[in-house]
Amino acid sequence: MKLDAKVTIKDVQPQEGGYLIDSSQGKKTCESLVIATGGLSIPKIGATSFGYEIAKKFGLNIIETRAGLVPLTFDGPMLEKCKVLSGLSVEADVICGKKKFSEGLLFTHRGLSGPSILQISSYWRAGEKITVNLAPELDISVYLKEHKQNNPKQHINNVLSEILPRRLAQSICDELSCSGPLGALSHATLDDLDRAINQWHITPTGTEGYRTAEVTLGGVDTKELSSQTMQSLKNPGLFFIGEVVDVTGYLGGFNFQWAWSSGYVAGQHA
Ligand SMILES: Cc1cc2nc3c(=O)[nH]c(=O)nc-3n(C[C@H](O)[C@H](O)[C@H](O)COP(=O)(O)OP(=O)(O)OC[C@H]3O[C@@H](n4cnc5c(N)ncnc54)[C@H](O)[C@@H]3O)c2cc1C
Repeated sequence: MKLDAKVTIKDVQPQEGGYLIDSSQGKKTCESLVIATGGLSIPKIGATSFGYEIAKKFGLNIIETRAGLVPLTFDGPMLEKCKVLSGLSVEADVICGKKKFSEGLLFTHRGLSGPSILQISSYWRAGEKITVNLAPELDISVYLKEHKQNNPKQHINNVLSEILPRRLAQSICDELSCSGPLGALSHATLDDLDRAINQWHITPTGTEGYRTAEVTLGGVDTKELSSQTMQSLKNPGLFFIGEVVDVTGYLGGFNFQWAWSSGYVAGQHA
């Protein structure tokens, strides 16, 4: 059976010894069928829910889908802060629950992005807070207290600008109404700065969704498939591979690797 690359598959029906496919190029039959229709990310470039619909139709369980490897969004004063700092990036630790990623963090006009945020987004659930350490190499409280003793005349925004990009340092000082020479700042203020830099707790309002997500979390339950062939345990000749399956990797090529490897395995048995 041959279909060209621009074909749209409209429906799949079981039939004696295989499957009947209804496509934009007419009806075709096959003994084996590999569903490789990907996830829901970036509908603009052709993502559809077709693979999930076929899986459901053939009685396979679907793990709830949601956007992954996606920027996080905010509202209110946090959004205003992100807009002001848009384009600025720092190396940061980003933590959600027990998961931590230490990579770049980028302020955007919608919220936060960059590798550390994209990675943590795959673990974040609506309503949860995340903790950001904007200076992972430094214990800010200890550093500022030592500096206060040794350089009491140095202004706080200049001290912080040695650690963070100047605009970010200034924004943190403004938020905490903190200015002037270190010697004039109380230890309580230095602890507030420590919390704002080493333990910044923020609660995203959401994600940018499938519009910009690099992957779709969830999908065809792996328990429904043979891990050796990718064949449906309930439907001989029906295979699911790649992103339509509930397998999601970190940033760095792991999702391509999964799509190619699972496709290869299915290809050996289909
Ligand atoms: C912007 C972006 C950047 C990414 N960067 C990376 C990266 O750097 N590294 C990495 O590992 N992964 C990355 N990914 C994820 C990676 O692209 C996917 O995990 C991978 O392509 C999944 O392969 P797949 O074959 O399962 O599905 P896809 O590559 O999504 O292919 C599915 C195809 O099926 C077609 N289709 C859907 N429904 C139908 C239908 N009814 N009839 C006919 N055709 C249909 C779709 O149009 C699409 O062409 C990125 C994804 C995006 C969106």
